[in-house]
Amino acid sequence: MIYGALEAGGTKMVCAIGDENGKILEQISVPTKNPEDTMPAIIDYFKDKNIAALGIACFGPIELDKSSPDYGHIQKTPKLMWAGYDIVGVMKESLKVPVGFDTDVNGSLIGEVTWGAAKGLSDVLYITIGTGVGGGILSGGNVVHGMLHPELGHMRLVKAENDLYEGKCPFHGTCLEGLAAGPAIEARWGAPARELIDKEEVWELESYYIAQALATLILTISPKKIILGGGVMHVEKLFPMIRKKVLENLNGYLVTKELEDIDNYIIPAGLNDDQGIMGAIKLAMDAG
Ligand code: ZN
Repeated sequence: MIYGALEAGGTKMVCAIGDENGKILEQISVPTKNPEDTMPAIIDYFKDKNIAALGIACFGPIELDKSSPDYGHIQKTPKLMWAGYDIVGVMKESLKVPVGFDTDVNGSLIGEVTWGAAKGLSDVLYITIGTGVGGGILSGGNVVHGMLHPELGHMRLVKAENDLYEGKCPFHGTCLEGLAAGPAIEARWGAPARELIDKEEVWELESYYIAQALATLILTISPKKIILGGGVMHVEKLFPMIRKKVLENLNGYLVTKELEDIDNYIIPAGLNDDQGIMGAIKLAMDAG
């Protein structure tokens, strides 16, 4: 069987064809403009590929409740041209195949659980830290959706005493995304993250915020594995710093075999940044 996968992001739409082993056979990337320009190119790509189903891992917020008349629609979003857009309905109608649908970060979570660093586990937290911060939660083998879907990048954090930056998030200022996403790093330090690699204080502060959020999430959802992906997490030296600070945050309160082996508990994504598109393949497999 051949499946279609669409990773719909704010700057680009990755379209791929894959098989049931998650193998990507071919892929293209289309810039995300407005639906009128972008969608015909995507439909054109998939049209004659003979796919059995399509999976879409989409930027949010999106409606995932199948009983809602808005299921498959993009919700109110800063990307105004896409607000209210029925991406699932349009793809179903155009390609005449079943369509699976979830958030972009849940796509990455599903990719990692199916083929990557958390293969076979039932309780996993996946967080991406890049231009924004998003998180997906697998609990008891189910991807958590709930009322809408988790938006854990917007949890407020306690600021470090020496951090004078007011935060980048237009809604909350000093939430995790507002303090620790790539644009916040650049705004605080006056240079993009890639030019700050050797500045220890940048990564001390960055790991302080990420670890604080992780400690809260560990106490709340008790994951058995935590995967950190996204552009900022390509800074490998963050991992040992985050692990150390998570243990300091928990302060000995939890004693588990996972925390005793924290190097294998808080880990990088394992699919070479293909986790999102591979997760979309799995969404297609489950839709068909
Ligand atoms: Zn926020």
